[in-house]
Amino acid sequence: MDLIYITKHLNTQRKCVKYLEEKRWNGIPTCPYCGSQKSGAKGLRHNCLDCRNSYSVTVGTVFESTNLPLMKWFMAISLILNAKKGISSMQLSRDISVNKNTAWLLQMKIRNAMASNAPDQLGGIVEADETFVGGKTKKGKKRRTHGGPQKHQKPVLGFVQRQGKVITKVIDAPFREIIMPILKSYVTPESVLVTDGSQAYFPAKKHFAGHMIMSHSTGIYKRGIYHTNTIEGYWSQLKRAIIGQYHQISDGYLQNYLDELSFKYNHKDSNDKGYSVLISQMLGN
Ligand SMILES: [Zn+2]
Repeated sequence: MDLIYITKHLNTQRKCVKYLEEKRWNGIPTCPYCGSQKSGAKGLRHNCLDCRNSYSVTVGTVFESTNLPLMKWFMAISLILNAKKGISSMQLSRDISVNKNTAWLLQMKIRNAMASNAPDQLGGIVEADETFVGGKTKKGKKRRTHGGPQKHQKPVLGFVQRQGKVITKVIDAPFREIIMPILKSYVTPESVLVTDGSQAYFPAKKHFAGHMIMSHSTGIYKRGIYHTNTIEGYWSQLKRAIIGQYHQISDGYLQNYLDELSFKYNHKDSNDKGYSVLISQMLGN
């Protein structure tokens, strides 16, 4: 859903409410308090004929948390989803005419919904790798993208299923005691893990059906169908996004931002770029 569609078809609160009612209840108002489908309409709200409570479609959903017109929510979602590298909350505040605190809040809530939609587990061939991102760079100074970490950079662990989805996690340090438990909880034991020669991944052969090591230091980048090109490609995309959009991301929000980029990657092949999934998530469906 793009801005043109929203300004044409979702340009009143009533149309937006109808749209959400269709998504949340297949168009049949259902009392969030007692589950009854018997109701009488009252403006954009409904009166439950069983428990006598009054409710609207946004009750108990992410949309309830602001008094913002729904059209602005939809626009914010569309702007965020269509901005490949992300959009700053300042830019968002200008684009949909809300103050910067509201824009920031919208962005956080939309990102949280994106995070809740993350895949539970990856399987098959899974490439794992870690990188360092974030931190401050002086304006005009070129950021190093290879080699060891710079001051204030945070390690990030990423793993991607071949032809599938990606998960990225900010970690305290790229050590095996930290990396292995994460991989064990997000990658199925039947998977074949593909990594570089880092010792942090050495215990992987105990936990997964296979562990293919591409020892880059000895010039091995590919063995048959096994390589780590997908995750490395993802890292360069991630770094371009961070450099292009933000001069710095504070550590506290790095995971939040990573979740946004992962969501976009994971829905890049869907027709609506994940719009529908995201709305459902925000409705608590
Ligand atoms: Zn009821």
